[in-house]
Amino acid sequence: MLRILVVEDEQRLSRLIARVLGEEGYTAETAADGRTALSKALAEPFDLLVVDWMLPDLAGIEVIRRLRAAEMSVPVLMLTARTQIEDRVEGLDAGADDYLPKPFAFPELLARIRALSRWPREEKKTGSILQAGEVILDPHRHAVWRGEERVELSAKEFALLATLLRRPGQVFTRSVLLDTVWGATSDAYANVVDLYISYLRKKLDYEGKSSHIRTVRGVGYTFEPDPER
Ligand code: CA
Repeated sequence: MLRILVVEDEQRLSRLIARVLGEEGYTAETAADGRTALSKALAEPFDLLVVDWMLPDLAGIEVIRRLRAAEMSVPVLMLTARTQIEDRVEGLDAGADDYLPKPFAFPELLARIRALSRWPREEKKTGSILQAGEVILDPHRHAVWRGEERVELSAKEFALLATLLRRPGQVFTRSVLLDTVWGATSDAYANVVDLYISYLRKKLDYEGKSSHIRTVRGVGYTFEPDPER
């Protein structure tokens, strides 16, 4: 049975969508704001997300951006009253898979959900396991291992590590990491990158050994698959 997360702040519409999905045999959960949606989607396995664009706290598009930054490849259907072409492009660029303008008819919503849920996950570009040296990151299970040992990471730590692991050895500047993990519109400062790098080091490195994450002075950070031990 497919689990679907419905992210919509209009309570009446949210309940209605959840009820219709339930009648179709899906398991539907709801979230009424962006932050709740993001933490739910990062913490639990959903087969599909239906996300409204305009949400309190964190816009739907930002939720999608951050999920993609965290290597979550779950299919996303975006709902929005904004129908202009640039908005659609922005939504798709952020990582939405399909787009349904409001108001919509339920048969069309269900048809789009059926189409999206047929997509094989393997074909989605963000879904594959990342490995560098002994560090392995599995986006589907939202899990990280150091060798045999499971490492528990927060959502931000996970997104930051996933970004670094996508290109081991490449140097990422603080501003690139900030944009990718915290979002271009975020009010976070570059210092937050340094802080989260220190969290990752505490969790991934061995005491007294070289770090997996090397500081490139004045530039940024790079992931070393096999630091000197
Ligand atoms: Ca809304």
